[in-house]
Amino acid sequence: MTSTQKNVIHWFRKGLRLHDNPALVEALEGAVTFRCVYILDPWFAGSTQVGINKWRFLLQCLEDVDASLRKLNSRLFVVRGQPADVFPKLFKEWKTTHLSFETDPEPYGKERDATIISLAQSAGVSVISRISHTLHDPKRIIDLNGGTPPLTYKRFQTIFAGMEPPPKALDPITPDMVRGTLPVVSEDHDEKYGVPTLDELGFDTEGLAPAEWKGGEQEGLARLVRHLERKAWVASFEKPKMTPQSLMSNQTGVSPYLRFGCLSVRLFHWKLTELYRRVKKRSDPPVSLFGQLLWREFFYVVATNNPKFDRMVGNPVCIQIPWDRNAIALAKWAEGKTGFPWIDAIMIQLRQEGWIHHLARHAVACFLTRGNLWISWEEGMKVFDEFLLDTDWSMNAGMWMWLSCSSFFQQFFQCYCPVGFGKMADPNGDFVRKYIPALKGFPAKYIYDPWNAPEHVQKMAKCIIGKDYPLPMVNHAEVSHINMERMKQVYQHIFFRISRTGMV
Ligand SMILES: Cc1cc2nc3c(=O)[nH]c(=O)nc-3n(C[C@H](O)[C@H](O)[C@H](O)COP(=O)(O)OP(=O)(O)OC[C@H]3O[C@@H](n4cnc5c(N)ncnc54)[C@H](O)[C@@H]3O)c2cc1C
Repeated sequence: MTSTQKNVIHWFRKGLRLHDNPALVEALEGAVTFRCVYILDPWFAGSTQVGINKWRFLLQCLEDVDASLRKLNSRLFVVRGQPADVFPKLFKEWKTTHLSFETDPEPYGKERDATIISLAQSAGVSVISRISHTLHDPKRIIDLNGGTPPLTYKRFQTIFAGMEPPPKALDPITPDMVRGTLPVVSEDHDEKYGVPTLDELGFDTEGLAPAEWKGGEQEGLARLVRHLERKAWVASFEKPKMTPQSLMSNQTGVSPYLRFGCLSVRLFHWKLTELYRRVKKRSDPPVSLFGQLLWREFFYVVATNNPKFDRMVGNPVCIQIPWDRNAIALAKWAEGKTGFPWIDAIMIQLRQEGWIHHLARHAVACFLTRGNLWISWEEGMKVFDEFLLDTDWSMNAGMWMWLSCSSFFQQFFQCYCPVGFGKMADPNGDFVRKYIPALKGFPAKYIYDPWNAPEHVQKMAKCIIGKDYPLPMVNHAEVSHINMERMKQVYQHIFFRISRTGMV
């Protein structure tokens, strides 16, 4: 083997797929050897605040990529370590000439990639980095907005509508595309580079329930097909609607697959465009399904150049609010022990399964922040980041700022009631009964406010409130009123400052 031949490493991070993978397609052209790697530090894995469901999902994604690569007569190389330590060794050992990866639009990823690009350059390795996690290059949208990100959805939509359509999704890698390459997989591959198990990463898997969401490209693609099969539903989709069934995890949800890149957002976009062409009646952005993909794109664009997008202090798009610090209240919220069944059931579903409905996210985010507990959105974002399979840095922070009226949305006088909202969403209360078995015996009339049930009803339900299930941790009517006043003062202060100085 000489160093004049093309020896490729494709580095998987997100973008865990073989379909619509432009960086890999380009790298494979004329390659003599190729190795697809995923870099994972087992020590880091065990010590991070990332829940077991998310790790399991990631490992399943890696196994799926490995299975697809076997069909191409190759394997996935899971390399243990940190990228900056690992790459210089791999470049030498594998006589690498080209390194390819999907461009990461987020600030942390951009910084990490800049380090690796400079290591590659000093090793004489060419870098192929291509955009495929978003529909367009966020930088182009910023340029079209005069150099700053559009801060309203309307403005964003106007720019997006004036652009050429996003690139078409590329076909999956086929055996033909790697036909000329030499085999590189050794007999001890599993030992050296196999996908680790949860046990190897230090997780206690005893009693772990089966996964509600199975990771991987094949599952992501199958879900997209099922999602779009419901043609009429997809075409008339309007975000704010919620039914009792939609609260449960389902076989057509796609957000974790878009997050890990098992499913290409460009494929989703183009399949949706085809479908819209075929059906007559359809809703429009921002509430349509296409509108949801634009929201995703919007948050990537707004966050791409703002490394402080995930915090309040020093974040230019975030309003400064004097939130309370209350570790006990935060823990009750995070563990689903607030005493409000609607809020608790959602938080338990989040911890057990890793996904909750969009409006359920609204309910718990409002409750934690401006609605009831007056705790910073940053704390809620961290809990979501630990348990939610689909958390994306940009979207998670963006939506938390939104819900807490810290950015993008200012209607603080609208507040979700932790009793009434649940009743409206699922009048019978089956969702609550599923996730809080202690409340199973309550009739629908009291399922959302069991503390109001007469003693004999509580006894019949075999659940005494205050003993078998907590009393509500706050008086919602009182605290929400106080918090609205606090928020009003924050906004009055801001408007006063703008009127005097012209500055936010
Ligand atoms: C506090 C809070 C935090 C959130 N954090 C995340 C997050 O980290 N990652 C994430 O993917 N979604 C996040 N969302 C948005 C939304 O709740 C989920 O995308 C949606 O519930 C996923 O379900 P689905 O796949 O059935 O989405 P669909 O309704 O089928 O939408 C299709 C896709 O569009 C995108 N999308 C939908 N709604 C939004 C939105 N409001 N903003 C941006 N993109 C959207 C997602 O990629 C989603 O998979 C958050 C919402 C809230 C209120």
